[in-house]
Amino acid sequence: MNKKEVFEQVTDMEEKIGQLYQQLGDLKNYLAELLEENHRLAVENHHLRNRLESSTEQEEQKETGKSSSSEVPVGEGYDNLARLYEEGFHICNVHFGSPRQDEDCLFCLLFLNKSK
Ligand SMILES: [Zn+2]
Repeated sequence: MNKKEVFEQVTDMEEKIGQLYQQLGDLKNYLAELLEENHRLAVENHHLRNRLESSTEQEEQKETGKSSSSEVPVGEGYDNLARLYEEGFHICNVHFGSPRQDEDCLFCLLFLNKSK
């Protein structure tokens, strides 16, 4: 192997390492995105699970309370949704259940006014 060939091989390796380094960076970014998404979904899931549990409990209370009183509080569904919105989640059918990230959502606000 002459000097020129060695030089070419080293240059070739340098290029390949550069490409690998680039790929590694891309994968790292992708992984970061996945972790973020995973965290977001876990929080959302936790929240929706709580919602589901509390609304199931309310259903059960309604069921058991039926014999003594058939009165259902008016606007309870609205209150639940308004609370969910206050806690930072979308209640509009466009983004329902996803975090609002501290911004008001026009669809949600329209929806709240409509169901008031
Ligand atoms: Zn919304």
